[in-house]
Amino acid sequence: MTMLGEQDTSISLPGDAAYDVATQVFNLAAPARPVAAVTAHTIDQVRNAIRYAESEGLQVRVHATGHASAATRPMDGAVLIRTELGGAVEIDARSRVARVPAGTRWGAVAEAGAPYGLAAPHGSSPTVGVVGFLLRGGLSPYGRQVGLAVNSVRAIELVTADGELRRVDASSDPQLFWALRGGGGGFGVVTAVEIELFPAAKVITGAAYWPAVHAERLLSVWRRWTLDAPREVTTSLRVMNLPPLPDVPPALAAGPVLSVDGAVLSTTDDVTVARRYAEDLLGPLRAVAEPVMDTWELTTPAAVLHAHMDPSDPVPFHGDHMLLSEIGDDGAAEFLRVVGEGSGSPLIVAGLRQLGGAFSVPDPAGGALDHLDARYSYAGSGVPFDPDVARALVDHCAKVRAALEPWDTGRTVPSFVERLEQPQRHLSPEQVEAVDRVRARVDPSGRFRGDIAPNASAIF
Ligand SMILES: Cc1cc2nc3c(=O)[nH]c(=O)nc-3n(C[C@H](O)[C@H](O)[C@H](O)COP(=O)(O)OP(=O)(O)OC[C@H]3O[C@@H](n4cnc5c(N)ncnc54)[C@H](O)[C@@H]3O)c2cc1C
Repeated sequence: MTMLGEQDTSISLPGDAAYDVATQVFNLAAPARPVAAVTAHTIDQVRNAIRYAESEGLQVRVHATGHASAATRPMDGAVLIRTELGGAVEIDARSRVARVPAGTRWGAVAEAGAPYGLAAPHGSSPTVGVVGFLLRGGLSPYGRQVGLAVNSVRAIELVTADGELRRVDASSDPQLFWALRGGGGGFGVVTAVEIELFPAAKVITGAAYWPAVHAERLLSVWRRWTLDAPREVTTSLRVMNLPPLPDVPPALAAGPVLSVDGAVLSTTDDVTVARRYAEDLLGPLRAVAEPVMDTWELTTPAAVLHAHMDPSDPVPFHGDHMLLSEIGDDGAAEFLRVVGEGSGSPLIVAGLRQLGGAFSVPDPAGGALDHLDARYSYAGSGVPFDPDVARALVDHCAKVRAALEPWDTGRTVPSFVERLEQPQRHLSPEQVEAVDRVRARVDPSGRFRGDIAPNASAIF
């Protein structure tokens, strides 16, 4: 820890143990190397770090978990603020609103809401940070019922470049509130968010896995089911080439598998309808072949965070993402040609998340990104075990992109963007201009401009 002048500002420099803590990232393939770093537990520490950046002529960058470290710009010339604001998740059960300090991960929000029968629009992993996920859109396994996760944000507290702590919502600063929600970042350091939760009494959730030899029929059955699936159900289909690691069940590491996971939401204890929806999805899939592993069950919402079996510890990974229109039979065949059995794909996971339902409905009270005009979110990633695999991953991501190009909408959901240099448009040119006007007002010197997602600004 370095003492600056008379005051300990908590700023740490390379070589300090605190620097290593503040710069930890989940994606080990994309380390963060700022000039200086701080783990901010208080608003004052956030302010001090901004002041320090100003006095040293540095940029300010922000992160929490570093899940998206490969999708952020290099941090030369920047102070990195890792947010770990103090305080617990507070639930107002009457209004169904949770106040969440920045740095909180989704697991803690789900846990806080559970005693009230409330669930949060979290993603597939309990370790992902709430703020980064929300500001970038957020695809939830409840998303076809509740929409893009960012639409559930009711208020945002942030410290802007002038050191002011602002609480913005639909009435206090509607333009900034609009821009913060999906506008691409670069407005300041978010210190807390308020999000609306929803009733969730029971869920049917899990994942079923089949040998990839059945992939063609399974994909066909799943895809036809997605065409008019109920909103209460959100699923994803993945082709997985899992390495034989201690955490991986042997049945899944024996060869490539195809999995279908997801969640069927029941807002009441009467699960008759949820059971029928689950059977409509899983019955025809199980009839194709017997799964080698099947964890789908009626359970509590807490289980949804584990159904997808995302890694819980930091790993290096490299991947790509696209939003796709309906792929039809031709697109399904192309998908399996490039990521299926025998494709030589080095991707450990390549999958399609089901969109539609509430994902595709604009929210009249929403922000810059409030819905997705696409049928599937494609994401594929692998682990660059060595330089050869790293090169193979880059080449294969390009191959998949070329194969799926006819169905590529040219848009992305920013929370899924895996790499800085891959195309990642999510706003219209008019929206980019409108968001830039807000940035010019709250950050006139461009202190936070390195934090802006590529293609989300025209002025830098
Ligand atoms: C295992 C895994 C599972 C995932 N599952 C899903 C999923 O189901 N659905 C989905 O949509 N996405 C998913 N993601 C992607 C994830 O949502 C994004 O990587 C998201 O950006 C992570 O947010 P974070 O705060 O944890 O990450 P960070 O890398 O810490 O932050 C990402 C960016 O968010 C901004 N940011 C973070 N905190 C603040 C703050 N306090 N103030 C201002 N800006 C801030 C910054 O611009 C930062 O660069 C997953 C990623 C992984 C690795």
